Formats: sequence, C-alpha cells, structure tokens
Amino acid sequence: MLAVMLEAPHRATVQQVADPQLQADEVIVRVERCGLCGTDQHLYDGDYALTRYPVIPGHELAGVIEAVGTAVTAVRPGQRVVVEPNIHCEHCHYCHIQRGNHCLNLQVIGVNRAGGFAQFVVAPERNVYPVAGLTAEQAAFVEPLSCVVYGLRRLRLAPAARVLIAGAGPMGLLMLQTIRRSGAAEVVVTDLRASRLALARELGAEHVVAAGGDAAQQLKDLAPYGFDAAIDVTGVPGVVQGLVPSVTDGGSLLIFGVSPEQATVSVRPYEVFQRDLTILGSFAVAYTFEDAITLLQSGAVRVDRLVSHRLPLSGYEEGLRAARAGEGSMKVQLAP
Ligand SMILES: [Zn+2]
Ligand SMILES: [Zn+2]
Repeated sequence: MLAVMLEAPHRATVQQVADPQLQADEVIVRVERCGLCGTDQHLYDGDYALTRYPVIPGHELAGVIEAVGTAVTAVRPGQRVVVEPNIHCEHCHYCHIQRGNHCLNLQVIGVNRAGGFAQFVVAPERNVYPVAGLTAEQAAFVEPLSCVVYGLRRLRLAPAARVLIAGAGPMGLLMLQTIRRSGAAEVVVTDLRASRLALARELGAEHVVAAGGDAAQQLKDLAPYGFDAAIDVTGVPGVVQGLVPSVTDGGSLLIFGVSPEQATVSVRPYEVFQRDLTILGSFAVAYTFEDAITLLQSGAVRVDRLVSHRLPLSGYEEGLRAARAGEGSMKVQLAP
C-alpha cells in the first residue's frame, strides 16, 4: 500500500510499504479521510515524546472496514467507521482505574504505531466505532472532537460560566460549538486572524477579540472580574501564561493545546494560592468517542466550514505548511 513515512523529524516520503497484517481481534480499515492537527506538527518537528520513528503518522481517521479478523463480532466489512487511536493495555495501574489515556503501555495509532496517512490501517476491534450517517469528512473530526469532550468533562463548566477560548482554529471552533450547546452564559474567542474570528462569531461566540494590541483591555471590559474559565487551544506557551490574569478568582485555566514538550511558563504559586485558581490539563481522549459521534450525528457540532484543504497523501508536507501558515487555512485533511 501507499503511505506517508516519517523516517525522522523533517524527513517524510510517500512510499510503498507492506500491507498491514490482521490478527484475530483486529480490523483493517481502508482510510477515506485523515485530518492533520497540531500533534502532527510536533511529530514532524520531533518534539512529541511519545513518537517512535520511523512511523506512518495520522490519528484522526475515518474509513470503511476492508477486512475483519476471525474473532471480530461487532463490526463487518463495508461499514464506515472511525478509529480511536489510543490503544490501552487494559492491565496496568491506570487501565485498572479507568484512566486509559495514561496507560503505561499506551500505543497510539499514528504516533508510535502505523497511522492513517496510508491506504490501510489496522486496529483492534474495540477501538473501532461505526459512524452511521456521517460522511468521511465529518467522521474524521470524531477524534479531535472527542478530545474536546474529554477536556470539557475535566473542566465541568457551570451553566452561567463566562468562558474565554484562546485560538479559533479547528480545535477552538469545535470547543466553541460544544460549549455553546452544553452550557455557559457567554463565550469570548481570541485569535490573531480576522478570518477565524469571523467564523467564530458565526459559530456562536458572543464576542471575539483580535489578539495583541489592546486585547487585554478589551477582555477586561468584557469580564471585569475575569472569566470563570480560560481555555488555551493554541499550544503557544506565551498565550498560556497570558491567560492567567484573565481568570477570575476561583476560576479555572484549561491547558488544552499541545505546547512544545520542553517549553515552560512561569506562574506565581502565591497567585494560584491566594486567588483559588485551578489549573487543569487534558490529555487526548478517554471514553469520549461515543459522545463525539453523537454531537456530529445530531448536528450540534458542524464541521462543514472547518475544512480548508483536501489533499492526496503526497500533500502531507504541503498540508503541514498550510496549517502552520494560517490565514485562510483551517483543518487540512488527506484523502489516501
Ligand atoms: Zn489530532
Ligand atoms: Zn494500560
């Protein structure tokens, strides 16, 4: 089959590789669409610790079941499915306490095992979810949306919360729509790019603020006591640090974007103590795929405006560049 092979950081080729082999409890999926995201940028740059090179990247994939192993019972060839990329061992400490995303033997499709920027991918049956009624383009958003659901489960917003989202890329806009449907009195979105802010407005943000300039003052005018929750969806350490003053006393900061592995920010412990701040992380997904599928099937979250590039496998590096460049680019998907 044809696949993108990331041999080492910044060294990618499209090449013929052996077709995946099927174990009894596995399925082979013919990939229709696979989204590129910030994590893929980190894999490419070599600053994502979980990665094992060489690897076929791609973890936001949707496709059709091509073949099933002899022990597979719940799905059949021809069904459109999405694949949960995180494969839990089910026997370590964290798996035993239902925190599978922290599995000590975590395998991640597209990070440390063969991923979706290929014609076919193999996955355990238990990681495969049918997605009746969704197009492949929509279904490739199930994985990123399930990360959003997981982050929001951790954050537990109150119904009257005022929320600040930093970053109006595809993830920020999935976050915005999910919050708009699930509760919060007001959502304010910031970004550097005017086109993204316009889309945030259309998708339900009460206010949008262009980052930089007098943004801090505008945010203060919108929420004089600060926001109940501030969510970083940029993965830019300076943005994370800049969100702290925007959180109200007793409020929460959710670190959702993926910063470079070695980056640091400085926070005064006294401030966290004295202002009753909560700082939360949110790593990947855990038991949130079904919720993400429901949000898409019901139309509560819409993704038709979020795809800017549909490229063949050979467009992997072009896609990475486009997603990084910004203005005019949103989600990049490859269609093997
Ligand atoms: Zn992703
Ligand atoms: Zn485990």
